Amino acid sequence: MATSFEYAPAPESRGVVDIASSYGLFIDGDFVDGSGGSFKTISPASEEVLADIAEATEADVDLAVRAARRAYTRVWSRLSGRERGKYLFRIARILQERAREFAVLESLDNGKPIKESRDTDIPLAAAHFFYYAGWADKLSYAFPGETDPKPLGVAGQVIPWNFPLLMLAWKIAPALATGNTVVLKPAETTPLTALLFAQVCQQADLPPGVVNIVTGAGETGRAVVSHPGVNKVAFTGSTEVGRLIARAVAGTDKKVTLELGGKAANIVFDDAPVDQAVEGIVNGIFFNQGHVCCAGSRLLVQESVADEVLARLKRRMRTLRVGDPLDKNTDIGAINSREQLDKIRALSEIGEQEGSERWSAPCELPTRGFWFAPTIFTGVTQAHRIAREEIFGPVLSVLTFRTPKEAVEKANNTPFGLSAGIWSDKGSRILWMADQLRAGVVWANTFNKFDPTSPFGGYKESGYGREGGRHGLEGYLR
Ligand code: NAP
Ligand code: MG
Repeated sequence: MATSFEYAPAPESRGVVDIASSYGLFIDGDFVDGSGGSFKTISPASEEVLADIAEATEADVDLAVRAARRAYTRVWSRLSGRERGKYLFRIARILQERAREFAVLESLDNGKPIKESRDTDIPLAAAHFFYYAGWADKLSYAFPGETDPKPLGVAGQVIPWNFPLLMLAWKIAPALATGNTVVLKPAETTPLTALLFAQVCQQADLPPGVVNIVTGAGETGRAVVSHPGVNKVAFTGSTEVGRLIARAVAGTDKKVTLELGGKAANIVFDDAPVDQAVEGIVNGIFFNQGHVCCAGSRLLVQESVADEVLARLKRRMRTLRVGDPLDKNTDIGAINSREQLDKIRALSEIGEQEGSERWSAPCELPTRGFWFAPTIFTGVTQAHRIAREEIFGPVLSVLTFRTPKEAVEKANNTPFGLSAGIWSDKGSRILWMADQLRAGVVWANTFNKFDPTSPFGGYKESGYGREGGRHGLEGYLR
């Protein structure tokens, strides 16, 4: 289907960001040279090198943990909740003031479309700080019977690349609100907004050592979570690394929260409003290139409407614009890294070999950078790897069902349990389904909706502990 007109380019200006050629580690309130080497972070849309980043060694991590400990004992744990709250409000306001800068930087470093970093990532990150700022002086009311909850100490936090600043906010805001100090490691491919956040901490006059940012790869993450001076480990990432971490902290008295992978079912019944459901399917799997742990990567559609839903879905997918993340009209940006692209390609090839039928929206992909066209697989069975494994890309596996009971069985037939979606006109059916589904979050007639007041987290191999809401405080308190 040819579009009747073309969109003119509408690029957001890069001029609002000021990227240094190299960055050190943020320890004890200052940027310092690490004792190790460095690595480069690139723009996945162009493969352009953006900056040289220090790689924190075990010794650097040790310095950061010591700084966090000092700040904890001497300053942060002694401040009243009201005083801590002031700092959090200040950070939240600065994030809002500098939102455009953060959005452009996030899109450059991560590859996600500017309309998503601008409208989702950055506003939600600020909202998390506002929300937990509000809790800082009300902790004695948060849990019935628990009038004086105490912080844990130093939190070691490791986050992935899919929502760099937002995952940082999910980690740092509740930790600081409850009186803990932190050492955080951003993902290797997306360190820039965490480093800009470090500057925000300086701008907010946050006492030195309360927040420390150590950049690096998996080895740095390992050093953070296994440091004996860390009292709390918070990790978001793959189930595989989550297992390693669970093993590393077993037998210690560290408190742990793990937010891991998912393979969510997005379930469409025959009485669902079809166009709305199609938008929800698109948002469920193509939002953020499908690099979303709670992505609706398995579509379960009732057999009687499957043909119609698929026809309308394909029609909608033809209108998705893939390309320059900084263009305001872009719907789908770049895949975050070559490694991730290889993984998506490999699993998609396996899907074909196993007998599913592959369809990709016709689109012209840029020649440089890492790209993958929005893709669906039909004729998928539960035994197929693309129905079981997390692809973490813009790839949807379509399965059908006849009865609600069958939908529940198929939806729950996964080692994961992070999220699910239900599309139906019937309230009673939605409630019945939500009760049967083993998933931490169930969306009804919507998908991928996030709010700082609402707890988020998984069942089974999707991890344990909750982030967000009042529940998100628990992981940081004794
Ligand atoms: P990953 O490999 O598990 O990496 C996550 C973070 O852990 C990165 O900062 C990584 O460092 C670091 N890391 C790697 N090895 C480590 C080790 N041995 N010890 C400590 N830290 C280590 O996951 P990813 O490939 O970046 O992200 C994709 C995965 O994250 C997906 O499976 C997705 O489902 C999951 N995820 C889950 C949620 C959730 O809320 N449940 C949210 C987002 C993503 P480097 O990558 O820098 O080397
Ligand atoms: Mg990058």
